[in-house]
Amino acid sequence: MSDTILQCRNIKKTYPRLSLDLDFSVSQGELVSIIGPSDSGKSTVLKLIAGFVNPDSGIVAIDGQVVTHLPTEKRNTAVVFHDYALFPHMNVEQNVAYSLKQRKIAKDDMIPEIRRLLELVNLSGFEKRGIEDLAADEKLRLALARALASDPCILLLDEPLMLLDSKKRFELRNEIRQIHLKSGVTTVYVTNDKEEALSISDRIIVMKNGKIDQIGTPEDIYRRPGTEFTATFTGECNILPYDVILKTLRVPETERSKVIYQCFGPDHKLLFRPEDMVVNDMPGLPFPEFFPHLRFENAKIIRCEYLGKEYLVTAQYDEFIIKVYTVYRPASDCITAGIRMNKILEFNDGRLIRH
Ligand code: ADP
Ligand code: MG
Repeated sequence: MSDTILQCRNIKKTYPRLSLDLDFSVSQGELVSIIGPSDSGKSTVLKLIAGFVNPDSGIVAIDGQVVTHLPTEKRNTAVVFHDYALFPHMNVEQNVAYSLKQRKIAKDDMIPEIRRLLELVNLSGFEKRGIEDLAADEKLRLALARALASDPCILLLDEPLMLLDSKKRFELRNEIRQIHLKSGVTTVYVTNDKEEALSISDRIIVMKNGKIDQIGTPEDIYRRPGTEFTATFTGECNILPYDVILKTLRVPETERSKVIYQCFGPDHKLLFRPEDMVVNDMPGLPFPEFFPHLRFENAKIIRCEYLGKEYLVTAQYDEFIIKVYTVYRPASDCITAGIRMNKILEFNDGRLIRH
């Protein structure tokens, strides 16, 4: 996966309320997700790639060809928007055939190709169905088949799961990944759902106010977030100021100042994921003595959310708030939790300085 298929070089685009500034590339066959809050410019990135929007400056290149000023139909991209934009007066087969005809596929190849595409998206047998007779997920499948029928160099998906219920969202995100793997088509996938992106992407681009905050593998983004923004956008975080170290660090008194000095700078923030914390939520069981290094003794529980497979417990420790996951509903109104030093990320001025 090293051949570059898409390049967005020094792209700038200014709107009254958004300044886009981008530089990234995508390799052949990758599935790259773009995540970020609403209005961070995600859809605009897709429009720049597809040619619905022209940049003020910079270059878009697809498959080695600069396409910055080419119209959208000359770019060999296919877009699926969240409303799917199917042709309502055509049935399933005709929707797919439309894209095949654009490609001037021979008549004899048409039926087998339609069959292959519908099979790929799990819509076999739906050939003669009208659009109005399709469930929401079937419409998405058809939109994907129609997009793939144009044999695009790059498939662009803009929040395609937005209209589906949570169960279908879960199913379809995995199917999108399967379809991507089977078809091998390079895919840029916009979503505001971090779990979707983490679960199916080769790499993720995190956008903030029109800029790329971080690009990396899902593991990079989640485990080694480069900024506080990416850390908090991709999951629950504990963010504590340096002072907390002074109160909670568990090392012998003689070592204390050395460890503090070596490990953390004043004004820095410490960041760690709730799932990395060690918690004692079993009544009667002692808290492990040998670790962790920072311990929050008897933090007062202020909220306990049941998430199905676990509880997310929010607790007050001095003036700080900590979040931990527990298997059981805490038996008392306090909880003791700790974190090991090697699980702590250190941030200065919003940027990661050590992990
Ligand atoms: P996202 O998909 O992340 O929600 P968008 O790419 O749709 O974000 O747009 C982000 C912002 O860019 C919009 O809120 C708007 O301020 C600005 N914007 C996008 N397109 C236009 C446009 N055609 N004219 C003016 N402003 C625009
Ligand atoms: Mg959008």
